[in-house]
Amino acid sequence: MDYYSDSLSKLINELARLPGIGNKTAQRLAMHLLKVPKQESEALANAIIEAKNKIRYCTVCFNITDEDPCRICRDQKRDPKMICVVQEPKDIIAIERTRDYKGRYHVLQGAISPMDGIGPNDIRIKELILRLQKEDVQEVIIATNPTIEGEATAMYISKLIKPSGIKVTRIAHGIPVGGDLEYADEVTLAKSLEGRHEI
Ligand SMILES: [Zn+2]
Repeated sequence: MDYYSDSLSKLINELARLPGIGNKTAQRLAMHLLKVPKQESEALANAIIEAKNKIRYCTVCFNITDEDPCRICRDQKRDPKMICVVQEPKDIIAIERTRDYKGRYHVLQGAISPMDGIGPNDIRIKELILRLQKEDVQEVIIATNPTIEGEATAMYISKLIKPSGIKVTRIAHGIPVGGDLEYADEVTLAKSLEGRHEI
């Protein structure tokens, strides 16, 4: 990218590092940012800095939040007897979009993946078990992705929880196998929550 000035090359390189952004898109975004009024690009830069400074993980559910505990954990109207276990904070957004689920969440921040060297102790399973000992939970819905890693994680957690007598369910597979929860449409996701089965 020698034809660009150093600062423009730097901007394009940084943008191209973002997931789903190739070189072409990075160039287009960089050109766009140069064209818009200064306040607009500054607002974007500041939003990134503010988010990085303010955002932390909820110490209860490990969702991304500005305030700890997060909004969902603080919401008295939500059913504390139900915990939906997901891999990533973005999965909460996908399930919230269905407007069907009124319980709480637990974010694992990953899935068990021996191939990548990720074992049960590398994700927030311990914290989930501790929650189940402290909170009065009746059902744990495991909504990990329908991938090999997601399934292995679901089975692992189910075996851990079972002896406690708490009901463990797995969302049904309206979601394509190998797919990501975040890409499922609301209807499919709502159906798969509805059709969850005990494991
Ligand atoms: Zn929370």
